[in-house]
Amino acid sequence: MSSRSTEETKGLTGRTVVYDEDGKPCRACNTLEDFRFVTGKVTTSKIAAAGKPAKTMPEESLIPGSRSYERTNPPDVNELGKSTWNFLHSMTAQYPKEPSPVQKTEMSNFLHLFSRVYPCNWCAKDFEKYLKENAPKVNSREELGRWMCEAHNSVNVKLRKEKFNCDFWEKRWREGWEE
Ligand code: FAD
Repeated sequence: MSSRSTEETKGLTGRTVVYDEDGKPCRACNTLEDFRFVTGKVTTSKIAAAGKPAKTMPEESLIPGSRSYERTNPPDVNELGKSTWNFLHSMTAQYPKEPSPVQKTEMSNFLHLFSRVYPCNWCAKDFEKYLKENAPKVNSREELGRWMCEAHNSVNVKLRKEKFNCDFWEKRWREGWEE
């Protein structure tokens, strides 16, 4: 993977590419096109596709008066869950390897507050109980990543889904599988 140059790098979308503190392009901060472009993983067909104009949508599927916003409905428990896990694991993947005392306190506080406000209230109650019985491990990225993976697995088990192998949490949520 390429590392940060002293000059600003522009991606395929024209946005400035954002780098992590370790000098590598940040996955969660860039679009996939820009990330692949800057890491040399984009194909010429993808470059061509990126230049094509977006599809126009039929007017009746749009919010009145809008050129682009569809009449999308509020998320159900599954859509909300998937989006939230995307957020929680991505947040974990960006957590420092060696967090400061303030960062540790903030993460712990955030997770407790999160469990009080998560919009699926019965999911939130169970998650709050999980937090009481399994205090968040916030001493490092590795520790938090595993804790989050186990927290997600507790919901997977409740829903009779397959458990995720937590040895792969960083591949899934930080590094990716392409290299
Ligand atoms: P998700 O479970 O949303 O997972 C998304 C992706 O994450 C997977 O495709 C996989 O690549 C990866 N993944 C899966 N497991 C792990 C893991 N352990 N560690 C790291 N990565 C993983 N739904 C309910 O019906 N009842 C509940 O009580 C409930 N509680 C929830 C509590 C919280 C805090 C959250 C955030 C969600 C909750 N949900 C609940 C939603 C539920 O967890 C799923 O999000 C939902 O069922 C949709 O599942 P999915 O198959 O799209 O994959």
